[in-house]
Amino acid sequence: MDSGMIGKIQKSKLYAEEPERIRFDRFQVSFQGTNSRHRVVYDEGHWSCTCNFFATRGVCSHTMAMERLLGVMLPPEAMAPVEPAQAWA
Ligand SMILES: [Zn+2]
Repeated sequence: MDSGMIGKIQKSKLYAEEPERIRFDRFQVSFQGTNSRHRVVYDEGHWSCTCNFFATRGVCSHTMAMERLLGVMLPPEAMAPVEPAQAWA
């Protein structure tokens, strides 16, 4: 392997330890819930999910799980306001 490629691999390892360098703009995932599979979409700060709870509340366990997983890789406007009752859930 050439030294150029070795350098890129080493740098990729450092980058992977600094997720704050990355910002997701949009993505779609298939999310296996407890009872069925849902489609979760994120697009420029806006979430959507095909579950019934999201349809009425605009937030759900699936979108909140994605927020926890991606953390610093999502901009602040992507994070749902947490109600006190939900903070301990
Ligand atoms: Zn959902």
